[in-house]
Amino acid sequence: MPENDNVKVAIRVRPLSNKEKAECLGKQCIQVDLSMSSISIDTKSSIKTFTYDFIGDQDITQEELFEVIGQPIASSCLAGYNGTIFAYGQTGSGKTHTILGPSSLNLLSANINDYNLRGLLPRALEFIFNSVKKEIKRCSGVEFLLKCSFLEIYNEQINDLLLPEQRGLQIREDIKKGVYIEGLQIETVLSFEETYELLNTGIKNRHVGATSMNKESSRSHSVFTLAIESKEKKDDLWNFRSSLFHVIDLAGSERQKSTEARGERLKEASMINKSLSTLGNVINSLVDISEGKNRHVHYRDSKLTFLLKDSLGGNSKTCIIANISAASTCFGETLSTLRFAERAK
Ligand code: ADP
Ligand code: MG
Repeated sequence: MPENDNVKVAIRVRPLSNKEKAECLGKQCIQVDLSMSSISIDTKSSIKTFTYDFIGDQDITQEELFEVIGQPIASSCLAGYNGTIFAYGQTGSGKTHTILGPSSLNLLSANINDYNLRGLLPRALEFIFNSVKKEIKRCSGVEFLLKCSFLEIYNEQINDLLLPEQRGLQIREDIKKGVYIEGLQIETVLSFEETYELLNTGIKNRHVGATSMNKESSRSHSVFTLAIESKEKKDDLWNFRSSLFHVIDLAGSERQKSTEARGERLKEASMINKSLSTLGNVINSLVDISEGKNRHVHYRDSKLTFLLKDSLGGNSKTCIIANISAASTCFGETLSTLRFAERAK
């Protein structure tokens, strides 16, 4: 992956499911060229080729993906820079698998084969806690404070996943604190295990909320944040660092069929479309700025981009992982995801 730019776009192609293999008789809608880091798709009228910073093809392991995308961003957060990883794609494309791993996986009791399927977020948390331990051993004058929070955005409403009775939280901005969410539960965490338990609590709360409102969790964005603060005494001077590491499982990007979307569903679908297109615009503006162009960034056009305002741009690192299926039956959504990801570069 190129080292120098701060916004990166990666594609992850997930293997065909058994159902897809049966439905499309193994026919695939894309061709991956790893040497060119490009994907071609036959749109009937022409063959379109898109190039990305990185492509993980069907056989890429969770470990490889972490090494290419997760570890550089987690390292940079430990060095004091903000980092954000987004998983984008239609429902079923592998976003949650990429971020967390298989849905039934509990790392604290899994056998080794299942453990190896854990996703980017648990790997990043392990990496960060291990690095902190090493750093404390290496240097007696350094102190760390780690805190986490977990929220979802559903219909442009912010709900706390660690304290589920807290719904409809407001984003505030002030000169001292920057952008923050008023009343959001922020837990100090001392170990990987403790953080992982909180992550699982939040995931359970997300599913409970989803069924009681008669919708799937794939209609909301979830934002897990680890705040890393450290201080180190050097020559009688304190050196402070602080950064935020966000991992975001975005709402499914699929278009609702207009015949199926009425009432609440239609409102939901239009909120998701708007917040994903705002995200695309913001990323696009940031890329332009990093190339020296003068652009206004419309962070306030959605809750998601507003709450990430201080974490995107500047020296921070951002990666969008666009998840796709190669099955010919997914042609429309795969093309739309490839286009979104191309535009975000
Ligand atoms: P999404 O979160 O985008 O809706 P999921 O992550 O739930 O999609 O993936 C849908 C299904 O495909 C799940 O059963 C998941 O385990 C499986 N899956 C996704 N990506 C992979 C992968 N890279 N390897 C194996 N199975 C995968
Ligand atoms: Mg999911």
